[in-house]
Amino acid sequence: MNTILDSQNFNSKPIKRTHVMAKPIGAACNIDCTYCYYLSKQDLLEYKQGCTPTLQGDSLETYIRTYIESHNAPEIIFSWQGGEPTLLGLDYFKNVVALQDKYRPEGVIIKNDLQTNGILLNDEWCEFLAQHDFLVGLSIDGPEMLHNAHRTNRAGRGTYKQVMKAVDLIHKHNVSFATLTCVNNLTSKNPIEVYRFLRDVVKSTQIQFIPIVEQKTFRNEAPQSDGQSWQAEKQVKQGDKRLIPGNANSVVESFCVSDLGWGNFLIAVFDEWVKNDIGNVFVQYFEANLASWIGESSQLCTLNPVCGKGLAMEPNGDLYACDHYVYPEYKVGNIHHDKLEEVSYGDKQQDFGHAKIETLTSECQRCEYVFACYGECPKNRFIKNANGEANHNYLCAGWKKYFAHIDQSLARIARVYGYPVKFGRYSDERMMQTIGKNQRYII
Ligand code: SF4
Ligand code: SF4
Repeated sequence: MNTILDSQNFNSKPIKRTHVMAKPIGAACNIDCTYCYYLSKQDLLEYKQGCTPTLQGDSLETYIRTYIESHNAPEIIFSWQGGEPTLLGLDYFKNVVALQDKYRPEGVIIKNDLQTNGILLNDEWCEFLAQHDFLVGLSIDGPEMLHNAHRTNRAGRGTYKQVMKAVDLIHKHNVSFATLTCVNNLTSKNPIEVYRFLRDVVKSTQIQFIPIVEQKTFRNEAPQSDGQSWQAEKQVKQGDKRLIPGNANSVVESFCVSDLGWGNFLIAVFDEWVKNDIGNVFVQYFEANLASWIGESSQLCTLNPVCGKGLAMEPNGDLYACDHYVYPEYKVGNIHHDKLEEVSYGDKQQDFGHAKIETLTSECQRCEYVFACYGECPKNRFIKNANGEANHNYLCAGWKKYFAHIDQSLARIARVYGYPVKFGRYSDERMMQTIGKNQRYII
């Protein structure tokens, strides 16, 4: 389902797209953020001690060729993530661009996204990124104290000064960029400071937030292989103090955002954005929410009915159902033995994607905001709700508070821009999303 088919044609054939998040250096990184969910993959995926596998040589070429072949579209987007992909060096990415050019079908535009902590960026890097129109995703958590609290180097020192140097270089060379900010136990308590910093100091016009939610067992325990879910018998009921980050016996890591912490953060940022920044600053969640209110599909997999915005690929070519499901149980293929397209369309990946909607709790199915949430990311469905139903979303209370808060404003914004309001309490015509087990979506 991470392959999109639609009725439009390209080169007289139906358009198709596959999306892979490539991790060409696996989990290897030059810093050591406290909340990183990926560093521990080095042990989980049984990489040999001290070995840093990389996607190189023929393997890199195979990947670029097969990725291009899995598309029939006017534009192909490659995504590079880590770990820290810039550790591979600039020549690596010069080679990437040359290989893309070698296999690029006529009339097709190829673009690249690169997620980075910014530490290694210099003038030469930024000239290259600007010249080849890379979209850089820069990880930055806010003003110095907030950023340095969790984004530290191996010696435990904060990386703020280095990332701000990268911000200056990015602006100097006009590199396209978006910021990615983790909403954790600390940033969640300072929403306005974080948002104004991103807007006024970093001058980011594309702002992405990500809620930090990890169970204490996240480093070595995988969700069950049937339907993405966590073991029901271990789940704690909504309202239990063990769901509060930092509490004694908490089942979540202390760096996590709490459920209401998440909702309150989004509410505060939304109010500031509505007052001052509509049309000038793009906050990924608000864009996604607006799409849901007008009945369009949102750009965020977490808020869509089915999963599968993209497979994740490790340096040895192993493909996983999702970046957040890089566990042996969720391996769906390998680029050296399987056709990328077939993996994308394959039963295993389809079932993975549809499990998101098919395993919604009855509370979600009846929720008035299910059209905008769909139970959010299954990775975060590890609590029992007030009725004792397992596999409910940890962030639910925050989501509900936030959706209720933005409902009327979003309806107003949609109307100002001339869109019909299809969902929510203020819709033109009240529509209810029907959730059925046998519904199958093509995304
Ligand atoms: S598991 Fe979460 S992150 Fe992965 S595709 Fe599904 S919603 Fe998106
Ligand atoms: S807000 Fe809560 S109940 Fe509603 S769909 Fe999201 S997780 Fe489910």
